[in-house]
Amino acid sequence: MARIAYVNGRYCDLRDAAVNIEDRGYQFSDGVYEVCEIRNGSLVDLPRHMARLKRSLSEIRIAMPMGEAALAAVMHEVVRRNRVHYGLIYLQITRGVAHRDHAFPSPAVKPSLTITAKSLNFEKNQAMAAKGIAVITVPENRWPRVDIKSVSLLPNVLAKQQAKEQGAYEAWFVGSDGCVTEGSSSNAWIVTKAGTVVTRSAESGILPGITRAVLMEVLAALQIRLEERPFTAAEAHEAAEAFVTASTQIVMPVVKIDGKPVGTGAPGPIALKLRDHFHGFSSFS
Ligand code: PMP
Repeated sequence: MARIAYVNGRYCDLRDAAVNIEDRGYQFSDGVYEVCEIRNGSLVDLPRHMARLKRSLSEIRIAMPMGEAALAAVMHEVVRRNRVHYGLIYLQITRGVAHRDHAFPSPAVKPSLTITAKSLNFEKNQAMAAKGIAVITVPENRWPRVDIKSVSLLPNVLAKQQAKEQGAYEAWFVGSDGCVTEGSSSNAWIVTKAGTVVTRSAESGILPGITRAVLMEVLAALQIRLEERPFTAAEAHEAAEAFVTASTQIVMPVVKIDGKPVGTGAPGPIALKLRDHFHGFSSFS
């Protein structure tokens, strides 16, 4: 079946979907994006993703290309046209097309909006969670504004590739203070031997993950202790469990960090329990 993309007001075959080479997303990574999970054909936690998108846009002074309700309608249409039952939707907004000049175009141009959706293999994701993933640590080398979901992902790309080449699935960035910030495409968590779940506060150094925010509600409901504080790679090595969160990973157990097993070396009971309960706390639209 042909995949369909939405590009600046038109639905077209993905093979024909194209943007102008003077799009500022292409020239300068001058844009932001969002990824939502699709379950049973519905968008998971769309209102939270919309709110983060609007915040990312306002932080870099790009206008919403259309109203929120209209944007949601286009997203649903992309899901429908691609007949995605389980998968993800990717949305990108850039500052638009203009002759190359670092400063913003003046007068402002229309932001570019592109949306794609793709099916993922649910069983494969479940099998991965049953096995757990390996992570490596790499030095943090990103700009301080990682709270903005910018398409400028070169450090993340290089970190993920390094992980892959070392037989791991994810890379955790470690700051000059020795503390883990987050993964190249996920938030990082550990569970202490006393059963407390620990993740860095969203105040600095991380993208405020939507999965992270929903998981905090799951933790409260299950009466599992949570500490929002930095943790070092050494503490992660000694932890009972570790896991990562992201929209398409939900809660993904980490069983190895830099080649050393975490806890028993198998996915931890708390991580698996949180994974099981997660969608009871999500919204579907
Ligand atoms: N941090 C980074 C750097 C990411 O790319 C992602 C995935 N988009 C996350 C955290 C997790 O965010 P979310 O739970 O909203 O997918």
